[in-house]
Amino acid sequence: MIQSAECPQCGSEVSVGSQPRIGKLVECKSCGAELEVVWLDPLELDWPMMDEDEEDLDDELDDEEY
Ligand SMILES: [Zn+2]
Repeated sequence: MIQSAECPQCGSEVSVGSQPRIGKLVECKSCGAELEVVWLDPLELDWPMMDEDEEDLDDELDDEEY
């Protein structure tokens, strides 16, 4: 059974496949956000950890809606 979780950006249901694992990367079909499975029960998605983007921490509040 394909499972899904809510996109933290647009709120749409994002399919994570039938065997989701923590750390699995998925893409929201509605807004194109690249997301990571961070919890399984309940299923929860969040932004992937980007080790090389430390200088961008100040931009977290700069969400734009398309
Ligand atoms: Zn989305």
